[in-house]
Amino acid sequence: MIELAAALGHVERTASPLPPRRCRLLEARGAVLGAPVVADIDSPPWDRAMMDGFAVRDSDFAAVGDGVVELEVAVDLAAGDVTGIVVRPGACARIMTGAPLPEGADAIVPIERAVEDTARAHAGSRVRLHERGFRVGQHVARRGSAFRRGQEVLPAGTRLGAAAIGLAAEAGATHVIASPRVRVAILQTGSELVPHDAAPGFGQTRNSNGPMLAAAVAALDAEPILQGIAPDRPEHLRAAIAQSLAADILLVSGGVSAGDLDLVPGTLAACGVEQVFHKVRLKPGKPVWFGVLRRPAGESSTLVFGLPGNPASSLVCFELFVRPALQILAGRPPGTWHRRRIEARLIATAKAPADRPAYVPCRLVQERSEWLADPLPWTGSSDLVGLAVADGLLALPAGAGVLEAGAGVEVVVLDGEPGVGVTPARGPDAGRSDG
Ligand code: AMP
Ligand code: MG
Repeated sequence: MIELAAALGHVERTASPLPPRRCRLLEARGAVLGAPVVADIDSPPWDRAMMDGFAVRDSDFAAVGDGVVELEVAVDLAAGDVTGIVVRPGACARIMTGAPLPEGADAIVPIERAVEDTARAHAGSRVRLHERGFRVGQHVARRGSAFRRGQEVLPAGTRLGAAAIGLAAEAGATHVIASPRVRVAILQTGSELVPHDAAPGFGQTRNSNGPMLAAAVAALDAEPILQGIAPDRPEHLRAAIAQSLAADILLVSGGVSAGDLDLVPGTLAACGVEQVFHKVRLKPGKPVWFGVLRRPAGESSTLVFGLPGNPASSLVCFELFVRPALQILAGRPPGTWHRRRIEARLIATAKAPADRPAYVPCRLVQERSEWLADPLPWTGSSDLVGLAVADGLLALPAGAGVLEAGAGVEVVVLDGEPGVGVTPARGPDAGRSDG
C-alpha cells in the first residue's frame, strides 16, 4: 500500500502525451494543437458591410457635416450578391449585412438614418440620409482586418474550444494537427452484474459504473468505449481484457480487492500489463490498481486502471488517478491535470478515519469571500446518492479525528456550479458511514 502523493507521482511519470496527428476539425473539440493553424484567405476576404443600410462614398458626407445627404440608389445588394457597378459621387447602393462593398463605396449609413419614408428606396429611386457624426469608413469590416492569408491564427498548444474551432473553420482548416482523442476502454467485471437497462434479479446488481465512467470520460473530451461486463471467470476476463487493451487507457472496474474472485490483477499480469502500484492509503478507493502495457518502440503504451467495483470508490479513483493520466495523454497543460482544490470552512462536523485520508462528498456555499463546506450524508463506497449532488469532496487528513464546525478543510471542487444543487433524496438509514 502506498501514499496518495506517491501514487499520483507514479501516474504522472508513467503517462505521456499521445503524438499529435492529423484529424478532422469536426472531431477536434477539446484537442490541443500540435501545429499552428495558418489562414488560407484574408478575413474578411473583401470589404464587408456590417449593417443593413446604404453603401456610400465618404466624400459625399465629409462635405456636408451633420446635414441631410440625398443620393441616387444605384443597385440593391443582399448578402451573397456581387455587382460590377461602381458607386459614383452622388450615388449609393442599398446593402445588407454581409454583402461585399461595391467599388467606389467606403462606408455604410444604417437604414435607420434614412429620413421620412425614403428607407424603402431601392435601385432607381432616391434616398435621403441624415447621419450625425459620420465617420470615414464606418460599419465596414475591411478586407484582412481580422487576419491575413498566411497568418498563424491559432498557435500550437491551443486547446480547441468552440471559438477556436470556429476560427479554424473560418481560416480554412478542414483538418488540424492535434492531440488525438484519447480512447478509453471501460470494462466491468463481476458475475453479479447485469446491464444498466435490465431489471436485476435477486443477487444481481445493475452496472452503474459503465455509464458513470463513460460520462466522466466524455466530460474530458475523450472517447469512452464501453466493453460491457465480464463475469468472474478467468477465461472470460482474459478475453475481455485482451480486447480492451487496444485503447489508450483501460478502466477495469471490480475484482481488484483481495477476495477469492478478485481476478483482475492476476489476469492483467497474464496479459503482459506491468503493475505500477496496487492499493493506496485512501478512503474510499483503497484497492485501486495501476499498471502499463508497454509496446515496442514507436507504438504507444496502454495505461490500465483497476478501479474498485463500488461505484463511489470507482468515481473517486477516476477523479484522483484517471483524470490526470487522461489529461496528460491528451497533451493538456499541468494546470488541468487535477481538479481545483480550495480552502473552505466546515459548517457541520466531519469525522476523519484514523488510518487513511478520506474524500467525502460535500456541498459548497460561498459566503462573502469564504467557501463553506457542508458534508453530505454518505454511507460510503457504494453510495452514489450523496456524490450525485455533491459540489466537492472534503479532503480529510488521516487521524484528524472529529473536525468541528468552523474548522478549515481542503475541498476538491467537482463539476458544475458550486452552491446551486438540489437536496439529495435519502433513505431512512442515511448518515450511517461504513465506507
Ligand atoms: P468488487 O470490487 O468486485 O469486490 O465489488 C465491490 C462491490 O461493488 C460489490 O458489491 C459489487 O457488486 C459492486 N460492483 C462491482 N462492479 C459494479 C458495477 N459495475 N456497478 C455497480 N456495482 C458494482
Ligand atoms: Mg467483484
